[in-house]
Amino acid sequence: MLLTTQLSQVAGIGNVRAQLFKSELQLLTVGDLLSYYPYKHIDRTKFYTISQLNESLPFVQLKVRLLKVETRGEKRSHRFVATVADATGAIELVWFKGLNYITKQLKVGDSYLVSGKPNVFGRIMNIVHPEILLLTKSNIDKVVGWQALYHTTEKMKAKALNSDTVRRIIHNILNSQPINIEETLPQHILDNYQFVSKAKAIYNIHKPNTVENFQKAQLRLKYEELFFIQLQILQQTQQQRKSYKGAVFDVVGGYLNRFYKEVLPFDLTNAQKKVIRTIRHDCKSGKQMNRLLQGDVGSGKTIVALMCSLIAIDNNYQACIMAPTEILATQHYQTIAQLTKPLNLNVKLLTGSTSKRERTIIDTQLQDGSLQLLIGTHALIEDSVKFKNLGFVTIDEQHRFGVAQRAKLWTKNSIPPHILVMTATPIPRTLAMTIYGDLDVSVIDELPPGRKPIQTKHLYYNDRDKLDNFIRNQINEGRQIYVVYPLIHESKKMDYQNLMEGYTTLTEKFPEYNISIVHGELNAATKDAEMNKFLNKETQIMVATTVIEVGVNVPNATVMIIENADRFGLSQLHQLRGRVGRGAQQSYCILMSKYELSNDSRKRLQIMVSTNDGFQIAEADLQLRGPGDFDGTQQSGIPFNLKIANLAKDGNILTMARNDAQNILNNDPSLQQHTCCLQELNRLKQNKISWGNIS
Ligand code: ADP
Ligand code: MG
Repeated sequence: MLLTTQLSQVAGIGNVRAQLFKSELQLLTVGDLLSYYPYKHIDRTKFYTISQLNESLPFVQLKVRLLKVETRGEKRSHRFVATVADATGAIELVWFKGLNYITKQLKVGDSYLVSGKPNVFGRIMNIVHPEILLLTKSNIDKVVGWQALYHTTEKMKAKALNSDTVRRIIHNILNSQPINIEETLPQHILDNYQFVSKAKAIYNIHKPNTVENFQKAQLRLKYEELFFIQLQILQQTQQQRKSYKGAVFDVVGGYLNRFYKEVLPFDLTNAQKKVIRTIRHDCKSGKQMNRLLQGDVGSGKTIVALMCSLIAIDNNYQACIMAPTEILATQHYQTIAQLTKPLNLNVKLLTGSTSKRERTIIDTQLQDGSLQLLIGTHALIEDSVKFKNLGFVTIDEQHRFGVAQRAKLWTKNSIPPHILVMTATPIPRTLAMTIYGDLDVSVIDELPPGRKPIQTKHLYYNDRDKLDNFIRNQINEGRQIYVVYPLIHESKKMDYQNLMEGYTTLTEKFPEYNISIVHGELNAATKDAEMNKFLNKETQIMVATTVIEVGVNVPNATVMIIENADRFGLSQLHQLRGRVGRGAQQSYCILMSKYELSNDSRKRLQIMVSTNDGFQIAEADLQLRGPGDFDGTQQSGIPFNLKIANLAKDGNILTMARNDAQNILNNDPSLQQHTCCLQELNRLKQNKISWGNIS
């Protein structure tokens, strides 16, 4: 048998199942099926007694006697319940589906082998949809050992192609005739890590006889999966780097020098200096720069973007800074216009609400080159925006932009401009290496001096009075307060109602204070006006939705109150918290929630209370949510439904794989001396496992 043999040709599979494998799981060949790894193994050697059960056990097997059966509930909760017992106690087995079938299978008084996940339901333990077998000698023999479980779809299950059948088919293939499974990793890597061969790994992942053999197989296959992803990403990067020339900024000119010496109102942190130095170096190299700058909220990325833009301007290039929201673009513009006043720099703002007249001026000045720095929103990437000589692009809060939007900026100049993307939503190292394979990464890991760490508290709604007193005290000390409400698409109407009710309640509670409100339904002018009132301290409280999340900078605001905090994701909570702690005063973040919370929500809030470190939060987020839901992963085009590796857990393996892949490419860029790798890469590419152009 060959790995390329079609499944329909394999004895015992048949056309119907082969068709299902193809349509449901995209598995066509023997090789495909053997690479369809089990999602977990269960230890069938162990039996529990009912008294040992608790909810944290993922899987148990019991030997029980059936005491009684009954149907309960109406309509959707209609269910079949069997009460079973052993010498230590009783539990219930519950079926919501397949009632007719299961009723016929079970006989009161008989003994059964039952397996599944135990749950607590009310005061009694149950197992929903357990596996159940009559307790006979031959049945016991059948299930003992390590057993692989495979995901199958509803359609497959309907045709009895369930986990058991898939396992049987795979075992038949592995047992029937020798299969020629070729090695895909170079010998020196196998030797270095003492990995098992591919053939052995495949065999043991499906049919391990010991835990150790299973673990060896798993490690090797995880490594292999990550290795080939990295090899492909790095190879692509290598080719891209070769082909894009970049503008050379070799002049250190007047704008940067004057700014640094005469204007800059504070000393740069060492981390900021280092990043600027690196970028300067990049922009002299003759190659186009693509750099990701990760720096926690408040770490001072804006000034880095500005100073790098000045380097471009000193070299007679234009620069632009793109921000994801109008509020943020406007704020960048105001800060930068103010800072650069002594330099006589021509800086302008372009957003969706720029007037026609202003727009005409901008267009003209962009094309004659007199406009040096353009700040704006998505409006910047419209085709109609044409630069004379764009040399440096900064994209702020890049996780808000898609790949396509970023790629558009490349085409704004005959030589693609240098690109700096900045984010305050740090992503875990493992994801960065995978999503941004082609970006160099810099980190600002230091906050400007004098900042006091923000104190975070989690309060429940019955603490409201305490909170109100706190608000009053802070405002009396001259501080300002944010109150943020979630806004989720599906329940927009209700969310607005919450927001407006919250606003009304605050105006009633604090008649002596002025309150601003900002949300997405307001037009840009009203939003600006409300923001400005808050900035100018005319209002003490700002009630808002998450439009406030990104980048807004009001140093006098020291309290961030997040209502329904359990409904926000970790990165959003962290972003929101970053709106305070920007001045010299002690700042606070108050997370408000109801008392009853899901485990995940409670964990998220605990993490927020326990750390201010964005990277730690990102790691925790990855553990909680998995990579598929992570900001930026969807846009990246990378299939994160990896077969066996797990980016949340396998960071070490990924680092090994990346280093090895890089070393191989350094010595053998076209992989001519690594034919096993080349073949596997080509096979993966053929199977359309392609990571696209990820810039
Ligand atoms: P972020 O990285 O979140 O975009 P900002 O660029 O908005 O942060 O900077 C936050 C605040 O810190 C701003 O008020 C900025 O002027 C100030 N800042 C930046 N760098 C320094 C520094 N080296 N020393 C003191 N203050 C700084
Ligand atoms: Mg910022």
